[in-house]
Amino acid sequence: MKILADLHVHSIASGHAYSTVEEIARAAADKGLEMVALTDHGPAMPGGPHEYYFGNLRILPHRLHGVEILQGVEANVMDEKGSLDLQAVYLKRLDIILAGFHSICMKPGSRESNTAAMVSALQNPYVDIIVHPGNPDYPIDAGEVVRQAKRAGKALEINNSSFLVRRGSRETCFEIAKFVRQYGTWVSISSDAHFSSSVGEVSTALQLALDAGIPENCILNLSAARVTSFLASRGRKRFAGGERELHE
Ligand SMILES: [Zn+2]
Ligand SMILES: [Zn+2]
Repeated sequence: MKILADLHVHSIASGHAYSTVEEIARAAADKGLEMVALTDHGPAMPGGPHEYYFGNLRILPHRLHGVEILQGVEANVMDEKGSLDLQAVYLKRLDIILAGFHSICMKPGSRESNTAAMVSALQNPYVDIIVHPGNPDYPIDAGEVVRQAKRAGKALEINNSSFLVRRGSRETCFEIAKFVRQYGTWVSISSDAHFSSSVGEVSTALQLALDAGIPENCILNLSAARVTSFLASRGRKRFAGGERELHE
């Protein structure tokens, strides 16, 4: 099994990542990927891009070196209400919205408050995927989060970089993965690459998903076609005929 769409990749615009859009697209093409999502950190991340960066993404070609390029963001969840650090006017224009916890933007709280913040983010109409929900710094009620993701028709990520940079992620990700299998929730298996050579590198996350018994039909980013139909069903303008707005 090969994951053909990497839905979590950072460019130099993130401030602590090291490859350009051109280099990312070239690396994705060389690895045989069909699709890559540019998901730079939201403006609240120190060194991250100004919101104008997200406003101007639309000038990029939709394909580079034969790879479909999604214009996205890894927005920061700022509070228990699931507020994001990018205004709706920008969120509306993007193809895909990732959201997650980063300690500089929202300090870890109790298990209850972390769960409430994640569930609120899942209910935020703009959010498509919750990134690294298995971060052990933010204990959550995994069963509740997976149930709510299923209910909202959204995806939870198994983040390949977590196994390198977020110690203890294996156990928490495995717990989430078992609930994903139980409830049949979407899962995104993505790299969180901060350098071009890591684009499409998802082998550890994929193995964990398979070990937990997650079936192929729950893996959102197995192919570009599957991602496209998901985003169309979410009302994303680029894939849904350009008319529908996301419901508030
Ligand atoms: Zn980063
Ligand atoms: Zn990231």
